[in-house]
Amino acid sequence: MGRHAEVAGGGFGGLVAAVALAERDWSVRLHERRPALRAEGFGIAIMPNVARLFRALGLQARIVLGGMRVDHWEHQDGKGRLLVPRVALTDSFRISRHHIIATLAARAARLGVDIVTGSAVVVADPEGAVVLEGGRRLPADLVVAADGINSMLRDGLGLACRRVGQGAVGVRMTIPRDTGEIARDAVQGTRLVEAWSGRRRVLWCPNTEDSLYAILTCPASDQAARATPLDAGAWTRAFPALEPLIIRIRDDTDWANCRWAEFETIALSRWSSGKVAVLGDAAHAMTPYLGQGAGTAMMNALSLAVHLDRHIDCETALAGWEATERPATEQTQRWSRRYGWTLAMPDALKPLWLRTKHQPLLARRFGATAARVPTGC
Ligand SMILES: Cc1cc2nc3c(=O)[nH]c(=O)nc-3n(C[C@H](O)[C@H](O)[C@H](O)COP(=O)(O)OP(=O)(O)OC[C@H]3O[C@@H](n4cnc5c(N)ncnc54)[C@H](O)[C@@H]3O)c2cc1C
Repeated sequence: MGRHAEVAGGGFGGLVAAVALAERDWSVRLHERRPALRAEGFGIAIMPNVARLFRALGLQARIVLGGMRVDHWEHQDGKGRLLVPRVALTDSFRISRHHIIATLAARAARLGVDIVTGSAVVVADPEGAVVLEGGRRLPADLVVAADGINSMLRDGLGLACRRVGQGAVGVRMTIPRDTGEIARDAVQGTRLVEAWSGRRRVLWCPNTEDSLYAILTCPASDQAARATPLDAGAWTRAFPALEPLIIRIRDDTDWANCRWAEFETIALSRWSSGKVAVLGDAAHAMTPYLGQGAGTAMMNALSLAVHLDRHIDCETALAGWEATERPATEQTQRWSRRYGWTLAMPDALKPLWLRTKHQPLLARRFGATAARVPTGC
């Protein structure tokens, strides 16, 4: 009773932690170093596990208003041929990041969370306090370090951290949907398409009624593919069937606000130190192939609050939380990395690999996180 948390980071992990703790009668202050709670302007994959989490928070109906349901999943080659039969999806969405962050922030504010923007936390003290830029020290029964992949709070705790790149990079964008796409989807259902050619991938799906989400992926060393604005010739040589889409991506993307992100995995020796819990990408960033980085951050945030509800002693609760969630998180990291092997595979083997991936045994492994019932749901 009467416990207080200081949360550093107003991303997916920090906001769900703030909401879930406030729902359990914690007083919560959330610090976001940027001047506003704003996510990048791209959509994010929401699968059944995260849909369950949003339902548990009473937010799913509102969340889905900010995006599109995805009915089918297709794998194509560069010439537009289907590599495996299309897969029907349930409870699968692409939702604007802005919308999710805004919805979570509104819920947090209604629950009395004190959201402080323009407030950078510079130290997370395992004794139970945060120190802000400028030196102000704020004591707490719990500190949540949810400050993202380049977490300075994690690094300050001195926990051993293994950070491994997969040698691949991706750039995300949203562009206007064209009327043909909108009409086609209305009749045939919406599609998420992953097209593979050589060591490049183009993935796209509707983002909102009138915008399309796309991500281009290639090896970090593929300088021709990584040119920005896009070298459309380099991409259409690999994906001749996608020429019109590639031209639209080149011409309609806001390149000033797009960056190539490296795909990395982070493993920490421990997810906590004293009264500090390290959460989300700060603790367990993963490659984005399974689309579960934010989902895992949010599942682990809800679970954190559940464990703190079970144990009054913070350190016991944090140990129980890590023991419960770490195996599933590491499994997600592993299978996401394995999905990334598709990129390096010779084109002749890709159909066989993707077909095998959709066989029940492997599909269960690749889909285990999406199928999970998160702790607290
Ligand atoms: C190319 C790509 C595609 C992806 N696609 C998906 C997808 O489809 N689905 C999915 O689930 N995941 C996806 N992810 C992963 C997802 O973006 C991350 O896993 C998710 O954003 C992690 O959430 P987080 O809250 O841990 O960190 P973040 O979202 O990074 O939030 C951290 C917050 O902390 C703030 N902050 C940083 N330092 C401080 C400080 N010192 N004090 C106060 N605030 C601070 C930051 O400004 C930021 O707001 C993708 C990632 C990439 C790179």
